[in-house]
Amino acid sequence: MAKKIEESCSFCGRSGSEVDILVSGYTGKICNHCIDQAAEIVKGELQNKQHQKPISSLKLLKPKDIKSKLDEYIIGQDEAKKVIAVAVYNHFKRINYNLVHRKTNDEIEIEKSNILLVGETGTGKTLMARTIARMLEVPFCIADATVLTEAGYVGEDVENVLVRLLQAANYNVEAAEKGIVFIDEIDKIARKSDNPSITRDVSGEGVQQALLKLLEGSVVNVPPQGGRKHPDQKMIQVNTQNILFICGGAFDGIEKKIANRINTNIIGYNKKGTESIDKANLLQYISPQDVRSYGLIPEIVGRLPMLTYMQPLDKTALKRILQEPKNALSKQFTKLFEMDDINIEFTDDAYEYIVEKAIEFKLGARGLRTIVEAILNEAMYEMPSHSKKKVLKIDEIYARQQLEKTNLARLQAG
Ligand code: ADP
Repeated sequence: MAKKIEESCSFCGRSGSEVDILVSGYTGKICNHCIDQAAEIVKGELQNKQHQKPISSLKLLKPKDIKSKLDEYIIGQDEAKKVIAVAVYNHFKRINYNLVHRKTNDEIEIEKSNILLVGETGTGKTLMARTIARMLEVPFCIADATVLTEAGYVGEDVENVLVRLLQAANYNVEAAEKGIVFIDEIDKIARKSDNPSITRDVSGEGVQQALLKLLEGSVVNVPPQGGRKHPDQKMIQVNTQNILFICGGAFDGIEKKIANRINTNIIGYNKKGTESIDKANLLQYISPQDVRSYGLIPEIVGRLPMLTYMQPLDKTALKRILQEPKNALSKQFTKLFEMDDINIEFTDDAYEYIVEKAIEFKLGARGLRTIVEAILNEAMYEMPSHSKKKVLKIDEIYARQQLEKTNLARLQAG
Protein backbone atom coordinates (compact mmCIF):
# COMPACT_ATOMS: atom_id res chain seq x y z
CA MET A 1 0.00 0.00 0.00
CA ALA A 2 1.29 3.47 -0.88
CA LYS A 3 2.58 5.50 2.08
CA LYS A 4 0.57 8.69 2.77
CA ILE A 5 2.75 11.74 2.06
CA GLU A 6 2.48 14.34 4.83
CA GLU A 7 1.40 17.77 3.64
CA SER A 8 4.01 20.54 3.87
CA CYS A 9 4.46 24.26 3.28
CA SER A 10 5.45 24.97 -0.31
CA PHE A 11 7.59 27.92 0.84
CA CYS A 12 9.65 26.68 3.80
CA GLY A 13 9.07 22.96 3.50
CA ARG A 14 7.93 22.54 7.14
CA SER A 15 5.52 19.64 7.49
CA GLY A 16 1.96 20.03 8.73
CA SER A 17 2.91 18.68 12.17
CA GLU A 18 5.61 21.35 12.60
CA VAL A 19 3.27 24.31 12.05
CA ASP A 20 -0.01 25.54 13.52
CA ILE A 21 -1.87 26.25 10.31
CA LEU A 22 -1.34 25.17 6.72
CA VAL A 23 -3.43 27.09 4.19
CA SER A 24 -4.08 25.37 0.86
CA GLY A 25 -3.93 27.29 -2.38
CA TYR A 26 -4.53 26.30 -5.99
CA THR A 27 -1.12 24.75 -6.52
CA GLY A 28 0.50 24.70 -3.10
CA LYS A 29 0.30 25.36 0.61
CA ILE A 30 1.57 28.03 2.96
CA CYS A 31 2.16 27.80 6.72
CA ASN A 32 1.43 30.42 9.40
CA HIS A 33 5.17 31.28 9.75
CA CYS A 34 5.50 32.09 6.05
CA ILE A 35 2.25 34.07 6.11
CA ASP A 36 3.65 36.24 8.96
CA GLN A 37 6.93 36.75 7.11
CA ALA A 38 5.20 37.59 3.85
CA ALA A 39 2.97 40.10 5.65
CA GLU A 40 6.07 41.86 7.04
CA ILE A 41 7.62 42.01 3.56
CA VAL A 42 4.42 43.43 2.06
CA LYS A 43 4.16 46.05 4.83
CA GLY A 44 7.77 47.15 4.38
CA GLU A 45 7.50 47.36 0.60
CA LEU A 46 4.27 49.36 0.74
CA GLN A 47 5.86 51.78 3.20
CA ASN A 48 8.89 52.21 0.96
CA LYS A 49 6.66 52.94 -2.02
CA GLN A 50 4.70 55.47 0.02
CA HIS A 51 7.89 57.30 1.07
CA GLN A 52 9.10 57.55 -2.52
CA LYS A 53 6.00 59.33 -3.75
CA PRO A 54 6.15 63.12 -4.04
CA ILE A 55 4.29 64.53 -1.08
CA SER A 56 1.87 66.47 -3.29
CA SER A 57 0.28 63.19 -4.26
CA LEU A 58 -0.14 62.45 -0.54
CA LYS A 59 -2.12 64.68 1.71
CA LEU A 60 -0.58 68.15 1.46
CA LEU A 61 -2.17 70.27 4.15
CA LYS A 62 -2.24 74.07 3.75
CA PRO A 63 -0.90 76.16 6.68
CA LYS A 64 -4.43 77.00 7.85
CA ASP A 65 -5.38 73.31 7.81
CA ILE A 66 -2.27 72.47 9.80
CA LYS A 67 -3.13 75.14 12.36
CA SER A 68 -6.70 73.95 12.76
CA LYS A 69 -5.43 70.42 13.35
CA LEU A 70 -3.10 71.79 16.01
CA ASP A 71 -6.06 73.72 17.51
CA GLU A 72 -7.84 70.44 18.16
CA TYR A 73 -5.22 69.39 20.67
CA ILE A 74 -3.40 72.54 21.80
CA ILE A 75 -4.97 75.51 23.54
CA GLY A 76 -3.74 78.99 22.60
CA GLN A 77 -0.13 79.42 21.38
CA ASP A 78 -1.37 80.94 18.13
CA GLU A 79 1.94 82.61 17.26
CA ALA A 80 3.89 79.39 17.55
CA LYS A 81 1.22 77.42 15.72
CA LYS A 82 1.32 79.78 12.75
CA VAL A 83 5.11 79.70 12.52
CA ILE A 84 5.16 75.93 12.70
CA ALA A 85 2.30 75.52 10.23
CA VAL A 86 4.14 77.64 7.68
CA ALA A 87 7.44 75.86 8.30
CA VAL A 88 5.91 72.42 7.89
CA TYR A 89 4.03 73.47 4.75
CA ASN A 90 7.17 75.00 3.23
CA HIS A 91 9.07 71.87 4.15
CA PHE A 92 6.72 69.80 2.00
CA LYS A 93 6.80 72.28 -0.85
CA ARG A 94 10.58 72.44 -0.77
CA ILE A 95 10.91 68.67 -0.84
CA ASN A 96 8.59 68.39 -3.83
CA TYR A 97 10.31 71.24 -5.63
CA ASN A 98 13.75 69.77 -5.04
CA LEU A 99 12.51 66.37 -6.20
CA VAL A 100 11.38 67.79 -9.52
CA HIS A 101 14.08 70.37 -10.09
CA ARG A 102 17.06 68.31 -9.00
CA LYS A 103 16.71 66.55 -12.31
CA THR A 104 16.49 69.69 -14.43
CA ASN A 105 19.29 71.51 -12.58
CA ASP A 106 17.14 74.55 -11.98
CA GLU A 107 19.49 77.06 -10.39
CA ILE A 108 17.25 78.17 -7.50
CA GLU A 109 17.67 75.90 -4.56
CA ILE A 110 15.13 76.40 -1.80
CA GLU A 111 16.82 76.12 1.56
CA LYS A 112 15.10 75.01 4.71
CA SER A 113 14.19 77.15 7.71
CA ASN A 114 14.62 75.25 10.95
CA ILE A 115 12.62 76.41 13.96
CA LEU A 116 13.51 77.41 17.52
CA LEU A 117 10.63 77.20 19.99
CA VAL A 118 11.22 78.95 23.32
CA GLY A 119 8.83 78.55 26.25
CA GLU A 120 8.59 77.55 29.89
CA THR A 121 8.33 73.86 30.61
CA GLY A 122 4.78 72.54 30.50
CA THR A 123 3.53 75.07 27.96
CA GLY A 124 3.01 72.47 25.26
CA LYS A 125 6.23 72.33 23.20
CA THR A 126 6.38 68.55 23.17
CA LEU A 127 2.64 68.35 22.69
CA MET A 128 3.07 70.54 19.61
CA ALA A 129 5.74 68.20 18.25
CA ARG A 130 3.64 65.11 18.92
CA THR A 131 0.55 66.64 17.33
CA ILE A 132 2.51 67.42 14.19
CA ALA A 133 3.82 63.86 14.13
CA ARG A 134 0.25 62.60 14.25
CA MET A 135 -0.78 64.42 11.10
CA LEU A 136 2.35 63.98 9.02
CA GLU A 137 3.18 61.41 6.47
CA VAL A 138 6.91 61.88 6.70
CA PRO A 139 9.14 60.18 9.28
CA PHE A 140 9.27 62.09 12.55
CA CYS A 141 11.18 61.65 15.80
CA ILE A 142 11.78 63.41 19.08
CA ALA A 143 15.30 63.56 20.50
CA ASP A 144 16.54 64.94 23.79
CA ALA A 145 19.53 67.26 23.67
CA THR A 146 20.44 66.65 27.32
CA VAL A 147 21.87 63.21 26.62
CA LEU A 148 24.09 64.39 23.79
CA THR A 149 27.78 64.87 24.41
CA GLU A 150 30.82 65.58 22.31
CA ALA A 151 32.40 62.49 20.71
CA GLY A 152 34.72 60.80 23.19
CA TYR A 153 32.71 61.62 26.30
CA VAL A 154 30.15 59.52 28.18
CA GLY A 155 26.76 60.03 26.57
CA GLU A 156 25.33 59.85 23.10
CA ASP A 157 26.91 61.04 19.87
CA VAL A 158 24.90 63.69 18.07
CA GLU A 159 24.40 61.30 15.14
CA ASN A 160 22.12 59.21 17.34
CA VAL A 161 19.42 61.80 16.73
CA LEU A 162 19.31 60.46 13.19
CA VAL A 163 19.18 56.82 14.33
CA ARG A 164 15.71 57.53 15.74
CA LEU A 165 14.67 59.13 12.48
CA LEU A 166 15.95 56.13 10.53
CA GLN A 167 14.00 53.83 12.83
CA ALA A 168 10.87 55.94 12.27
CA ALA A 169 11.46 55.55 8.53
CA ASN A 170 11.94 51.79 8.77
CA TYR A 171 15.58 52.32 7.75
CA ASN A 172 14.48 53.77 4.43
CA VAL A 173 17.21 56.39 4.01
CA GLU A 174 15.43 58.29 1.26
CA ALA A 175 12.34 58.69 3.45
CA ALA A 176 14.38 59.69 6.51
CA GLU A 177 16.06 62.39 4.44
CA LYS A 178 12.66 64.12 4.09
CA GLY A 179 11.79 63.77 7.76
CA ILE A 180 11.28 66.13 10.66
CA VAL A 181 13.26 65.98 13.92
CA PHE A 182 12.20 67.64 17.17
CA ILE A 183 15.15 68.28 19.46
CA ASP A 184 13.94 68.98 22.98
CA GLU A 185 15.83 70.88 25.71
CA ILE A 186 18.26 72.53 23.32
CA ASP A 187 18.91 75.18 26.00
CA LYS A 188 20.68 72.52 28.08
CA ILE A 189 23.60 72.50 25.64
CA ALA A 190 24.11 76.25 25.91
CA ARG A 191 27.68 77.35 26.50
CA LYS A 192 28.36 77.54 30.20
CA SER A 193 31.76 79.16 30.03
CA ASP A 194 30.86 81.82 32.62
CA ASN A 195 30.77 79.01 35.16
CA PRO A 196 34.29 78.71 36.61
CA SER A 197 33.72 75.22 38.01
CA ILE A 198 33.47 73.72 34.55
CA THR A 199 36.92 73.07 33.15
CA ARG A 200 35.92 71.15 30.04
CA ASP A 201 32.61 72.22 28.54
CA VAL A 202 31.53 68.64 27.84
CA SER A 203 27.91 69.32 27.18
CA GLY A 204 28.20 72.78 25.74
CA GLU A 205 29.97 74.21 22.75
CA GLY A 206 31.38 70.93 21.45
CA VAL A 207 27.91 69.43 21.17
CA GLN A 208 26.63 72.58 19.52
CA GLN A 209 29.38 72.33 16.91
CA ALA A 210 28.44 68.71 16.25
CA LEU A 211 24.76 69.57 16.06
CA LEU A 212 25.51 72.38 13.66
CA LYS A 213 26.67 69.81 11.11
CA LEU A 214 23.22 68.21 11.20
CA LEU A 215 21.31 71.47 11.09
CA GLU A 216 23.17 73.02 8.19
CA GLY A 217 22.81 70.02 5.93
CA SER A 218 25.59 67.55 5.37
CA VAL A 219 26.13 63.88 4.79
CA VAL A 220 26.41 62.22 8.17
CA ASN A 221 27.59 58.72 8.99
CA VAL A 222 25.04 57.12 11.26
CA PRO A 223 25.61 53.88 13.20
CA PRO A 224 22.45 51.89 12.31
CA GLN A 225 21.85 50.57 15.83
CA GLY A 226 22.87 53.76 17.61
CA GLY A 227 25.38 53.83 20.44
CA ARG A 228 29.01 54.78 20.05
CA LYS A 229 30.73 54.59 16.71
CA HIS A 230 33.51 52.07 16.36
CA PRO A 231 35.88 51.58 13.43
CA ASP A 232 34.56 48.34 11.91
CA GLN A 233 30.92 49.25 12.18
CA LYS A 234 28.95 49.58 8.97
CA MET A 235 27.56 53.11 8.71
CA ILE A 236 24.49 54.43 6.96
CA GLN A 237 25.01 57.74 5.19
CA VAL A 238 22.21 60.24 5.73
CA ASN A 239 22.02 63.60 4.00
CA THR A 240 20.44 66.11 6.37
CA GLN A 241 19.95 68.83 3.75
CA ASN A 242 16.18 68.37 3.59
CA ILE A 243 15.51 67.29 7.16
CA LEU A 244 13.52 69.91 9.07
CA PHE A 245 14.71 70.49 12.63
CA ILE A 246 12.41 71.95 15.27
CA CYS A 247 14.31 72.75 18.44
CA GLY A 248 12.61 73.49 21.74
CA GLY A 249 13.80 74.73 25.10
CA ALA A 250 12.70 76.51 28.28
CA PHE A 251 15.71 78.89 28.34
CA ASP A 252 15.15 79.58 32.05
CA GLY A 253 15.98 83.15 32.90
CA ILE A 254 16.18 84.40 29.31
CA GLU A 255 13.67 87.14 30.22
CA LYS A 256 16.51 88.94 31.99
CA LYS A 257 18.54 89.02 28.79
CA ILE A 258 15.49 90.23 26.85
CA ALA A 259 14.84 92.95 29.43
CA ASN A 260 18.48 94.05 29.34
CA ARG A 261 18.47 94.29 25.59
CA ILE A 262 15.18 96.17 25.46
CA ASN A 263 16.39 98.62 28.11
CA THR A 264 19.67 99.27 26.34
CA ASN A 265 17.92 99.78 23.02
CA ILE A 266 15.40 102.11 24.54
CA ILE A 267 17.93 104.18 26.42
CA GLY A 268 19.82 104.53 23.16
CA TYR A 269 16.90 105.48 20.97
CA ASN A 270 13.53 106.23 22.37
CA LYS A 271 12.58 106.57 26.01
CA LYS A 272 8.85 106.47 25.35
CA GLY A 273 9.03 102.92 23.97
CA THR A 274 9.09 101.27 27.41
CA GLU A 275 5.48 102.19 28.12
CA SER A 276 4.04 99.87 25.50
CA ILE A 277 6.08 96.89 26.66
CA ASP A 278 4.19 94.04 28.30
CA LYS A 279 6.60 93.32 31.14
CA ALA A 280 4.64 90.29 32.35
CA ASN A 281 5.39 88.41 29.17
CA LEU A 282 8.79 89.42 27.88
CA LEU A 283 9.23 86.20 25.94
CA GLN A 284 7.15 87.62 23.09
CA TYR A 285 10.00 90.05 22.33
CA ILE A 286 12.64 87.33 22.06
CA SER A 287 15.25 87.89 19.37
CA PRO A 288 18.18 85.81 18.05
CA GLN A 289 20.48 88.12 20.00
CA ASP A 290 18.96 86.96 23.32
CA VAL A 291 19.41 83.32 22.43
CA ARG A 292 23.04 84.06 21.62
CA SER A 293 23.67 85.80 24.89
CA TYR A 294 22.05 82.82 26.61
CA GLY A 295 24.83 80.64 25.26
CA LEU A 296 23.91 79.21 21.87
CA ILE A 297 26.72 79.76 19.38
CA PRO A 298 25.95 82.24 16.58
CA GLU A 299 26.21 79.55 13.90
CA ILE A 300 23.47 77.48 15.56
CA VAL A 301 21.27 80.56 16.01
CA GLY A 302 21.80 81.35 12.33
CA ARG A 303 20.61 77.85 11.40
CA LEU A 304 17.39 78.27 13.39
CA PRO A 305 16.01 81.29 11.57
CA MET A 306 12.39 80.85 12.64
CA LEU A 307 12.32 81.90 16.25
CA THR A 308 9.04 81.71 18.12
CA TYR A 309 7.74 81.43 21.67
CA MET A 310 5.11 79.70 23.77
CA GLN A 311 2.96 81.84 26.06
CA PRO A 312 2.95 81.04 29.77
CA LEU A 313 -0.39 79.40 30.58
CA ASP A 314 -2.75 81.57 32.63
CA LYS A 315 -5.86 80.50 34.55
CA THR A 316 -8.15 80.75 31.56
CA ALA A 317 -5.81 78.67 29.40
CA LEU A 318 -5.48 75.98 32.10
CA LYS A 319 -9.24 75.81 32.48
CA ARG A 320 -9.65 75.39 28.76
CA ILE A 321 -6.94 72.69 28.73
CA LEU A 322 -9.00 70.72 31.24
CA GLN A 323 -12.06 70.73 29.03
CA GLU A 324 -11.50 71.56 25.38
CA PRO A 325 -8.77 69.59 23.59
CA LYS A 326 -9.82 66.44 21.76
CA ASN A 327 -8.26 64.35 24.50
CA ALA A 328 -8.85 66.79 27.38
CA LEU A 329 -8.48 65.35 30.88
CA SER A 330 -12.19 65.74 31.66
CA LYS A 331 -13.03 63.77 28.52
CA GLN A 332 -10.51 61.05 29.36
CA PHE A 333 -11.90 60.52 32.86
CA THR A 334 -15.50 60.68 31.65
CA LYS A 335 -14.64 57.81 29.28
CA LEU A 336 -12.98 55.80 32.04
CA PHE A 337 -16.06 56.08 34.27
CA GLU A 338 -18.39 55.41 31.36
CA MET A 339 -16.84 51.98 31.02
CA ASP A 340 -18.42 51.19 34.39
CA ASP A 341 -21.70 52.86 33.36
CA ILE A 342 -21.00 55.81 35.64
CA ASN A 343 -21.71 59.36 34.52
CA ILE A 344 -19.41 61.97 35.94
CA GLU A 345 -19.89 65.69 35.71
CA PHE A 346 -17.51 68.47 36.70
CA THR A 347 -19.02 71.79 37.75
CA ASP A 348 -17.43 75.05 36.69
CA ASP A 349 -16.27 75.84 40.22
CA ALA A 350 -14.58 72.44 40.42
CA TYR A 351 -12.58 73.33 37.29
CA GLU A 352 -11.70 76.69 38.88
CA TYR A 353 -10.52 74.92 42.03
CA ILE A 354 -8.36 72.43 40.12
CA VAL A 355 -6.73 75.23 38.15
CA GLU A 356 -6.07 77.30 41.28
CA LYS A 357 -4.39 74.33 42.92
CA ALA A 358 -2.25 73.67 39.83
CA ILE A 359 -1.09 77.29 39.97
CA GLU A 360 -0.62 77.25 43.76
CA PHE A 361 1.53 74.11 43.56
CA LYS A 362 3.44 75.62 40.64
CA LEU A 363 2.67 72.53 38.59
CA GLY A 364 1.23 74.25 35.52
CA ALA A 365 -0.55 72.17 32.89
CA ARG A 366 1.55 69.16 33.81
CA GLY A 367 0.00 69.17 37.30
CA LEU A 368 -3.62 69.13 36.18
CA ARG A 369 -3.58 65.39 35.74
CA THR A 370 -2.02 64.77 39.17
CA ILE A 371 -4.70 66.88 40.83
CA VAL A 372 -7.62 65.35 38.92
CA GLU A 373 -6.29 61.84 39.66
CA ALA A 374 -6.06 62.69 43.36
CA ILE A 375 -9.61 64.03 43.41
CA LEU A 376 -11.08 61.06 41.57
CA ASN A 377 -9.05 58.30 43.13
CA GLU A 378 -11.52 57.31 45.82
CA ALA A 379 -14.44 57.29 43.39
CA MET A 380 -12.42 55.21 40.94
CA TYR A 381 -11.75 52.76 43.77
CA GLU A 382 -15.22 52.60 45.31
CA MET A 383 -17.72 53.14 42.53
CA PRO A 384 -17.06 50.17 40.22
CA SER A 385 -18.18 47.82 43.06
CA HIS A 386 -21.22 49.91 43.88
CA SER A 387 -24.22 48.54 42.08
CA LYS A 388 -26.50 51.54 42.73
CA LYS A 389 -24.52 54.74 42.53
CA LYS A 390 -24.17 55.59 38.87
CA VAL A 391 -23.77 59.36 38.90
CA LEU A 392 -20.94 61.44 40.32
CA LYS A 393 -21.06 65.19 40.46
CA ILE A 394 -17.70 66.79 41.11
CA ASP A 395 -18.22 70.26 42.51
CA GLU A 396 -15.77 72.43 44.38
CA ILE A 397 -16.73 71.01 47.78
CA TYR A 398 -16.23 67.43 46.64
CA ALA A 399 -12.95 68.30 44.89
CA ARG A 400 -11.60 70.09 47.96
CA GLN A 401 -12.64 67.28 50.33
CA GLN A 402 -10.99 64.64 48.19
CA LEU A 403 -7.82 66.58 47.60
CA GLU A 404 -7.46 67.40 51.29
CA LYS A 405 -7.68 63.71 52.10
CA THR A 406 -4.55 63.12 50.08
CA ASN A 407 -1.19 64.29 51.25
CA LEU A 408 -1.25 67.78 49.79
CA ALA A 409 2.41 68.37 50.51
CA ARG A 410 3.13 65.55 48.09
CA LEU A 411 1.86 67.74 45.29
CA GLN A 412 3.81 70.79 46.31
CA ALA A 413 6.41 71.70 43.68
CA GLY A 414 9.92 71.23 45.01
P1 ADP B 1 6.79 71.19 27.38
O1 ADP B 1 7.30 70.29 26.31
O2 ADP B 1 6.65 72.61 26.93
O3 ADP B 1 7.54 71.08 28.68
P2 ADP B 1 4.47 69.49 27.33
O4 ADP B 1 4.09 69.58 25.89
O5 ADP B 1 5.20 68.26 27.76
O6 ADP B 1 5.30 70.77 27.75
O7 ADP B 1 3.16 69.72 28.21
C1 ADP B 1 2.86 68.97 29.35
C2 ADP B 1 1.38 68.59 29.36
O8 ADP B 1 0.59 69.74 29.61
C3 ADP B 1 0.90 68.06 28.02
O9 ADP B 1 0.89 66.68 27.98
C4 ADP B 1 -0.53 68.58 27.92
O10 ADP B 1 -1.42 67.67 28.52
C5 ADP B 1 -0.54 69.82 28.75
N1 ADP B 1 -0.44 71.05 27.96
C6 ADP B 1 0.56 71.95 28.03
N2 ADP B 1 0.32 73.01 27.23
C7 ADP B 1 -0.85 72.76 26.63
C8 ADP B 1 -1.64 73.49 25.67
N3 ADP B 1 -1.25 74.68 25.21
N4 ADP B 1 -2.80 72.94 25.28
C9 ADP B 1 -3.21 71.74 25.76
N5 ADP B 1 -2.54 71.02 26.65
C10 ADP B 1 -1.37 71.51 27.10
